[in-house]
Formats: sequence, structure tokens, C-alpha cells
Amino acid sequence: MMSDSEDTPGNNNDNPFEQLQRQLQDMFRNANFTVMPGQAEFFTEPGAKPPPPPTKEEEADDRDSVLEAIRRFHLKPRDVKDYLDRFVIRQDEAKRAMAVAVCDHYNHVRRCLEQPDATDHPYAKQNVILLGPTGVGKTYLMRTLARLIGVPFVKADATKFSETGYVGYDVDDMVRDLVKAADGDTELAQYGMIYIDEIDKIAAAGNAGGKDVSGRGVQINLLKLMEETDVNLVSQTDIMGQMQAMMEMQRGGKPGKRSLNTRHVLFIVSGAFTPLPELIKKRMNTNVIGFGTGFDRKDEATEAELLKHAETQDFVKFGFEPEFIGRLPVRVAFDALEEEDLVQILEQAEENILCKYMEDFEGYGIKATFTPKALRAVARRAADEKTGARALMTILERALREYKFELPSTVVKELEITDAMIEDPTGPLVELLEKNRHAQRGLFIQETAEFAKRFHDQHGIDLRFDPAAAEAVVSLAETEGRTVHTICERLFKDFPYGLRLILKHTGKQEFTVTEPMIADPDGELSKLVLESYREADEKKTPPSEPEPEPEPEADA
Ligand code: ADP
Repeated sequence: MMSDSEDTPGNNNDNPFEQLQRQLQDMFRNANFTVMPGQAEFFTEPGAKPPPPPTKEEEADDRDSVLEAIRRFHLKPRDVKDYLDRFVIRQDEAKRAMAVAVCDHYNHVRRCLEQPDATDHPYAKQNVILLGPTGVGKTYLMRTLARLIGVPFVKADATKFSETGYVGYDVDDMVRDLVKAADGDTELAQYGMIYIDEIDKIAAAGNAGGKDVSGRGVQINLLKLMEETDVNLVSQTDIMGQMQAMMEMQRGGKPGKRSLNTRHVLFIVSGAFTPLPELIKKRMNTNVIGFGTGFDRKDEATEAELLKHAETQDFVKFGFEPEFIGRLPVRVAFDALEEEDLVQILEQAEENILCKYMEDFEGYGIKATFTPKALRAVARRAADEKTGARALMTILERALREYKFELPSTVVKELEITDAMIEDPTGPLVELLEKNRHAQRGLFIQETAEFAKRFHDQHGIDLRFDPAAAEAVVSLAETEGRTVHTICERLFKDFPYGLRLILKHTGKQEFTVTEPMIADPDGELSKLVLESYREADEKKTPPSEPEPEPEPEADA
């Protein structure tokens, strides 16, 4: 961090470096730049204290304990599988395979840390290739593993690299992202996981599924990364990062770690590999002699089953370099999820999507529950979408959107979500609102009082709605389908000014909102203001002026 004296604006002893820095600060203040973590301290207002990162020490402590846990890695594959079972439904083979792969990987890391010479022994890193359709838990399983171990995790999309002419993102950027995910902690980042999705899209052109001629080049770049390479942590295209590095050097500060070795980073690539099962089936059928499991009819083997038999030669045919596939020794095929699996996800998986919906409603003080039949209906509809567990969210979102919109402004504080609501959300919602209509009016009436309270807080003037006026506001809100708040804001938009005038003229601080004011707020307000002028005039009448003589008849 800079010292105060260095930060003082207008310091004539500025060296050129400090002047440059100040110019940059001005430039960044006037532009809408996103300042990356770690760069912020170079671009804060001179003299201004940077926002305190309150949990940094705690985070650092956490990271220390994660590093310690890696140094003492002790988990057994069965422990890992048990943990995964809590969150990931089905995918038993994948969970077993990944539990072993991850334990092997972090055992190796531990050995390297215990005896640094161990790095010299040949060791094939357990990089992983996951095969299977979308939404079946490939990413989720790996994220859950990263969370268990406490290491940073980043996900990238291989199609980003393959687009010809795309200059913004290269494979090394994933390593830089990993350091960001570790809050700049390079020590922790080197044990993290990098997940690259849609890897099937970088199969070389001319092969099944391949779409991009640059695929081969990307494979070669990835190859180096997956094996072992030092990645420069400041990208050549990252101007801000370059400047930051330059400033650090200028300031004579210790240059931070500028590169990261990928030796211990675990790489996971994944894809749907849609045409691959066909290739496998062909190969297996031509090799059936003595094999005994020729898949000659489509319904005999699902695509997931076929993918379980994938061999290096299939991937090469698909368009991958043999060396590339060779760096991915752990191959895992995921099952497609069926209706029953989706029900299980909703009923049994910890932290599943239902939690999000319950929390969303909870945010408005509404306790939402789902009937078992509703869960079944969600799963049934989701299964039809063929996007795995992702479809659960699509279905829930569609079914509950209107409830989320309407219910927060109503008296409804408990919502039992039924299968009828999933099948046809509108009908049951209308019914629910109708059932609560009477109570709802009560709440709306209360809202007029809340408006009056806010009015008092903002303008220091007491408003009181007489019962007929409150009813009239509520009726208006109901007819127009607006909230009481919106209606009041509109009706009384000129009241603050008008009532302040009256206050000035008469000292009156309390006003009753009457029914005629709801029909014609401006007209009624004008009358009150005029009256207040009259009252003020009367008050101004000089006391020396003779009082008019009482009418003689009046005494009579
Ligand atoms: P993909 O296989 O395409 O990587 P994801 O892992 O991203 O799919 O799945 C999307 C979401 O669906 C996850 O975040 C998770 O909530 C849910 N999900 C998917 N598969 C499972 C599963 N087998 N068990 C529990 N939840 C799952």
C-alpha cells in the first residue's frame, strides 16, 4: 500500500512515476472500468482509505487451513463417495471413479509436498474426461469435489478458444482465473481444478462432431497446460495487469509470484460427444467375434452405455490428437437422468434446486412447501425437456413465476405448491387470491396507513385516512391492478408542496384524507390551499382596525 505522504495531492516532489500514477487515477475515475481485485489499491482516490476487506484475515486463515489439509490429505475414496452421495443422485460409477481419481491426485500432491524429490518420479496426472449429455451432474460433481477439498474451481468453455479470430481468451487465461478464484493466492491455486466444457467442439475439422479448424491448435495448447507448464500470471493483453506489475517494480516492492506451474492443477474436460456412441457401436459390431456384446440394435444399448466402452481409437476417430486423449487417463461416462432420478434429486439431494425456491419465497416472509405429487409433476415435465436436471429449474421457474410476482404483495404467508399449480399455474393462483380477498383488503387498508407514516417521515406532516377514503384507495388499487403504494404516490404527488404551504400559512400539521380527495385530489388540495391563504390574510388584519359592529338583530 502507498503511504499517506506519497498520496498527498499536489505534492511538487512527485517523481514522473507518481505523476503518471495520478493521471491514471484520474483517467480511471472518469471511465467505467472494472478494477480487478488486487488492482484496486493502485487506483483509489489519493488519500482515501480503500474499502476495508473485512473478512480477508478470516479468508487467509481459511486458505491456510485448506493448504494444511492438502498437506495432510487423508481422505479415502469411500469417504469421498459418501460425501458425493449427499448431493449427486445416480452417477454411481462416475462417483466411484472420481473418488479414486481425486484421492490419487491429492495423495500424490501430499507426497510431493512431503518429499519434494517425489516430483522427479514419473507420474501420470489423473486428468479426467467426462462424457455425457447436458445437465446430468458432470460439473456439479466436480464442483462438489472441489468444495470438499477446499480448492478453487474454474469452469471454461472450449468453444471460446476455438472461435477463429477470438483474441480475448486463451487457454492460459483459465490458470489466471484459477488464481482469481483463489483470491490471488497462487499457492492454493496450484492445487485447484480447471473444468473445460464442450471439449468435443474442438475435435479437428473433417471428423465427426468437429467444427473448427483451429481445434488441433487448441488441443496442442491444452496438452502443454494439462501436463506441466509455467503460466505467466500477467497476460500480454492485460494492460492493467502489466501496469500494475510495472508499478510494483518501480516502487521497489517485492515482485509477487508472476507465474504458476500447472503440475498439480487437476484438469477435467467434458462434453456430450453426441456422434461418439455411433462410432463405438460400429467398432464394437465389427469386432463382435469373440466379444459377445455386439450392440446391433439401438435399444440394446443406451448412448451412455456405449460411451462407457469408449477407447482411445474412438476419440482419435472423433478428431482428437492421440497425445491429447493420452493426457486424460480417467474416462467417465455419465448416465442420462430419468424421471425417477429427477424425483430423487428433488426429494433427497441436499441443497437441491427446491432450496433456492423456498429461500426466494422466504425472502418475502412466505413459507413455501411442495407436495410429493407436485415434485412428481415437476420431474415428469422436466424429463420431457431432455436437458437433465437443468430442466427442473425451467419447469419450476415457469410454474412459480406468477406466484413470486403476486404473492409478496398479499396476505399469503404460507404456500403449499401442488401438482395442479405445476400443471396449470394460473387457475390455482386466481383461486388463491380470491380465497384471500377479504383478508387482502385488510392488508391494503393497512398499507394506506403505512403510506401516511412514510409521508410523515419524509415531509413532517401527519396524514390520516378516514375509513371511507382508505376504502376508496383500496377499490382504486383493485380496479387498476396496482399496489396501494403506487396509487397513493400518484394521488398525493402534489400534496407535499400544497400541505407545506398550508403549514406555513396556518401552522397546521395534521390533515385528514377524505373520500372526495380520492376522486379529485388536486381540486380538494387547491381548496385547502385557498382557505389557508384566506386564514393567513385574516390573521394579518391589523388589530387597530375597528371590529365590525355586531348586527343589532343578532342580539335580539
Ligand atoms: P452438466 O452435466 O451439463 O455439467 P450440471 O452439473 O451443470 O450439468 O447440472 C446442472 C444442475 O443440475 C446442477 O447444478 C445441479 O443442481 C443439478 N444436477 C444435475 N445432475 C445432478 C445429479 N445427478 N444429482 C443432483 N443434482 C444434479
